[in-house]
Amino acid sequence: MLNLVLFGPPGSGKGTQSAKLIEKYKLIHLSTGDILRGEIAGQTPLGLEAKKKMDKGELVPDEVVIGMISNKLDANANATGFIFDGFPRTTAQAEALDNLLTKKKTAITVMLSLDVEKQELVNRLLNRGKDSGRADDQNIDVIENRIAVYNKETAVVGDYYKKQNKLQLIHGMGSVDEIFDRLSKAIDKAKN
Ligand code: ADP
Repeated sequence: MLNLVLFGPPGSGKGTQSAKLIEKYKLIHLSTGDILRGEIAGQTPLGLEAKKKMDKGELVPDEVVIGMISNKLDANANATGFIFDGFPRTTAQAEALDNLLTKKKTAITVMLSLDVEKQELVNRLLNRGKDSGRADDQNIDVIENRIAVYNKETAVVGDYYKKQNKLQLIHGMGSVDEIFDRLSKAIDKAKN
């Protein structure tokens, strides 16, 4: 199996690149942000609880997102690989993911970490907020908080994969196609 963690701060291009990568490598895209927004749209109890956190730019509790990912892995038992996008976001989530994959006799192949300048992140998010309807992309304070939460709670997840020799830093500035090219090269190297 080919199991990728696509990593990086909010606005670093994980969703955009995932859409291209799943086509090229025939992977299943698991975005905890997308799954949570689906729960909100369906007005489920989980969605209503998660929305309070998401509207402030805070993280949803670990057990909630771990449970969601576990269900998706079970629901896609015949997949040839996954892209994890927006997950894991804490060390506890990374450990839980390793355990889930070990049970399925597989593992993370590589973590691709998109590196983008802060001002560019803010610009991209505000731009996305104009037509995505995402409330968390329309408020500069919420955007700043998400980036701060990333630096404080999520960036350490990079160290977790670095210790396993699985961290690949990818320059995340430039055109979508240039970045896709860099990602593809790193994946092709990690696969072999
Ligand atoms: P972005 O990375 O662009 O901020 P996402 O769609 O990945 O957007 O996530 C949106 C929000 O959903 C996050 O700010 C957070 O509140 C919540 N969320 C998504 N994934 C996780 C996760 N793995 N752990 C905790 N909260 C999460």
